[in-house]
Amino acid sequence: MSKNQNDLPFREVAETFDSMEKITSRISLTQLLVKLIKDTPPEVIGKVVYLIQGRLGPDWKDIPELGVGEKLIIQALSIAFGKTEQEVNKIYNSVGDLGKVAESFSQSKQKKSSLMAFIGSESSYLTVGRVFDSFLKIAYSQGEGSRDLKLRLIAGLLKDAQPIEARYIVRFLEGRLRLGIGDATILDALSISYGGSTSYREIVERAYNLRADLGEIAYIIATQGIESIKELKPEIGTPIRPMLAERLSDPEEILQKVQGKGFVEYKYDGERGQFHKDGDNVRIFSRRLEDITDMYPDVVEAIKNSVKSNKVIFEGEIVAYDTDTGELRPFQELMHRRRKYDIQKMVEEIPVKAFLFDVLLNEDEDLTRKTLPYRRKILENIVNETDKINIAKYIETDDPKTLWNFFLTAISEGAEGVMVKAIHDESIYRAGVRGWLWIKLKRDYKSEMTDTVDLVAVGGFYGRGRRGGKIGTLLFAAYDPENDVFRTVCKVGSGYTDDDLNKMYDLFKPYIIDHKHPRVESSIEPDLWFEPVRVAEIIGAELTLSPLHTCCYNKLKEGAGLSIRFPRFIRWREDKGPEDATTEEELIEMYNGQLKKIEEKQTKEEVQ
Ligand code: ATP
Repeated sequence: MSKNQNDLPFREVAETFDSMEKITSRISLTQLLVKLIKDTPPEVIGKVVYLIQGRLGPDWKDIPELGVGEKLIIQALSIAFGKTEQEVNKIYNSVGDLGKVAESFSQSKQKKSSLMAFIGSESSYLTVGRVFDSFLKIAYSQGEGSRDLKLRLIAGLLKDAQPIEARYIVRFLEGRLRLGIGDATILDALSISYGGSTSYREIVERAYNLRADLGEIAYIIATQGIESIKELKPEIGTPIRPMLAERLSDPEEILQKVQGKGFVEYKYDGERGQFHKDGDNVRIFSRRLEDITDMYPDVVEAIKNSVKSNKVIFEGEIVAYDTDTGELRPFQELMHRRRKYDIQKMVEEIPVKAFLFDVLLNEDEDLTRKTLPYRRKILENIVNETDKINIAKYIETDDPKTLWNFFLTAISEGAEGVMVKAIHDESIYRAGVRGWLWIKLKRDYKSEMTDTVDLVAVGGFYGRGRRGGKIGTLLFAAYDPENDVFRTVCKVGSGYTDDDLNKMYDLFKPYIIDHKHPRVESSIEPDLWFEPVRVAEIIGAELTLSPLHTCCYNKLKEGAGLSIRFPRFIRWREDKGPEDATTEEELIEMYNGQLKKIEEKQTKEEVQ
């Protein structure tokens, strides 16, 4: 068989796969991979790596599915080997493995044609290039006539395949390679093959974390040498594997872990976005590196308008919010944006904004090796904050108490908790790594609200957007009968009908006063103060501690009161006077009674 210097006989790949199936130790698997990689010419190393991974490229490239079902393979087998579909089905039913069926057909064909020197026939041997390119064509053939084209391509491959090759062609098409080779083993094998030992493993891994494409990394190493990847930078358009956080629940311990002080940022409850801006071209990748650009045309537009640099990669959280009040909305609402159709309608129904928290490339400067304070400064310099694009709210602190209060404030404002981030000299962006440079602080418990409460309106805020000039948000309080005072619980900007909003000012006009009412205790200053008269029924997602509100202050936790997360107006309770409102005691009972341990891996992962 004459060898093409720029390609590899597919048989070598198939034989390696066959050997891999027979062993279980990772060391032996790695050795087999190393041999295969060493035998592979640089031109096709990327393709070999993808084949090992059982895919045609990284997920984020959005290569279409192969779209090959069992039926199509059975038809292809019947064409390639001159059998009827019934014959194929019969053998398939007894063997139970289409790969094996293909192999046995190919074997009998080989026996028959051995006289014609089938083996080693110059024209018919398969190369990695041909097999891989046929797979790609199969994936990209869509729409009318695509079934026939797929059929022809598969039958063509099977006709020219050796038995062992036929087995793996079919397995690949079925998505059933199951070689048990993870990314880590491939990284080891690349490091040994091109660097002589696993001592290069770390830099190979870093390269992969910066360019989430193992085939591409293998190609760069094979063509430019393993040393070259030490200087590898992020590239616009190729997603970076995200840096991840550890989790702790004690503020003091958290600060110790980041060497005493750090940035404490709101941990927004939305969808992580990695934004790649190249001039006017913006792409967004998800936490799992899928291209989600089409789902957020409004964010794309906002980024174009508010980021000064030409070429930049940054990260942030996309969150649903209420344009009238500015309040953040729960994650579940954002998920309505995750669809392929009617996007424009969703853009209007579920407005979103992005809170940026990191920048990884600015023009040609690789920022992943710079400290967080340095990166943050760049972020602040290149972003003009707008309604749609903000920088994540943060403070710098070395004090556990300040951290804790900021955490409670974050939650009562709709965030999920905080992210504490190291700011010392080693505080680089560690792509793809979960480590102690970032630590998330979330609640262990939440007090789900299953019942409504009746609260007294004590102040009002003017709205924005559609509600500009009108009262759009009210400040509500609970009653403390012992001291005969009203203490604030929450600001409510959702749940009102247009009619409610139109009538709001008139409703409160008789009660507007120019100072805080003596029976009201509040640390929040609304635009308008009211006499505590009107009572409303309110529901929310949960009761939560908050340093912003005076209700139950210091009663459950020092330095915190009780508040409602994502509160919503239901209706006015004309039948209730202010002294009939829900009392502090009742709220404490509700809080304790509805306290539930938060399940790890909640809805977020299920939905994403
Ligand atoms: P993980 O991403 O750690 O595997 P997860 O997907 O369940 O777990 P969380 O544990 O809730 O997510 O926390 C990490 C996520 O928090 C990030 O991936 C990001 O989407 C989000 N996030 C929100 N605000 C920030 C912020 N200020 N800095 C970093 N991440 C943030």
